[in-house]
Amino acid sequence: MGDRDFLPGERGVVDIPVGSLIDYQPVQMAVHVLRGKKPGPRLLVSAALHGDEIIGVEIIRRLLRMPGFDRLKGDLVAVPVVNMPAFLSHSRYLPDRRDLNRLFPGAANGSLGSRLAHIFLNQVVMPCTHAIDMHSGAVGKPNLPQVRVSPGDNEGYEMALAFRPPVVVETSLRAGSLRETLYSRAKPCILYEAGEAHRLDPESVRQGVDGILSVMRFLGMLPKTRKAAPAGHRGETVVSRLTSWSRAPRGGIFAPEVGMGKSVKPGMVLGVVADPFGRQETPIKSKVAGVIIGISREATVNEGDGVFHIAVTRDAIAAERQILHGEEHVEDTAEPFVGW
Ligand SMILES: [Zn+2]
Repeated sequence: MGDRDFLPGERGVVDIPVGSLIDYQPVQMAVHVLRGKKPGPRLLVSAALHGDEIIGVEIIRRLLRMPGFDRLKGDLVAVPVVNMPAFLSHSRYLPDRRDLNRLFPGAANGSLGSRLAHIFLNQVVMPCTHAIDMHSGAVGKPNLPQVRVSPGDNEGYEMALAFRPPVVVETSLRAGSLRETLYSRAKPCILYEAGEAHRLDPESVRQGVDGILSVMRFLGMLPKTRKAAPAGHRGETVVSRLTSWSRAPRGGIFAPEVGMGKSVKPGMVLGVVADPFGRQETPIKSKVAGVIIGISREATVNEGDGVFHIAVTRDAIAAERQILHGEEHVEDTAEPFVGW
């Protein structure tokens, strides 16, 4: 990794230079490498491609403090902050306002972000066999912990189920994203999406750490546990192949009436948009059956703002039951449930 070789059983940090900023100081990407004593997969875990999405940073910090990596097979490569220029400015975006996750595969002589994408992809990501990239919702738009996977990425789909999140969503690929680039190179990749930008929430962090360890067990990198598996959310996983935004029918005060993880069906009132001066209120009705995976925390909305994000399912009530009341897994080897 970088200019350093790691011996079996060795761990350390490599600082990869990625450019310099207006203060004339170099910017580096810290890459943690844990090399197992025995060979196996090489898993990348990355966070903060968007500089204000901090939950993944904390997940990696906690992951690296876990005991038990002396029994690691293969290698764990962890990058807590991919986009340091954006992280330093508390921003999703690069200093030139571009989105790093739309600049892949990048170019050696491109903009700062394009160079960063190129260096990260070629020096860090491509030497790995599997990837877990971590993101959060926008400010004020938290996500229920969920794993996103590309349609057709079969190995990624297996990893997504092994992660055991409340919801797995098959989502289409965005041009220039890391996931699209890895898909085109046939490298399995999943996205963990949880919580919101700028904030840590304990449940999103806990499920992230547990999910990564669960994927590592699935890949044979860590031994299977005999005791109750630390399943990500202690319930079954709902699989959805379509998500839908429910939008504010007009501007005003937004008051949600359903919570995260709740099932909804067509015609059901999800909340209201109210006239701030008390003259009237307009219900927001669901157009689909599914499970709420994101809710706006904004108290005021403009017409058309996305206020509820729904993972569309065939049997929304069963899905809610799986998410909110799921039995704890007893066996680590238990087959994950796939509803459809
Ligand atoms: Zn993101």
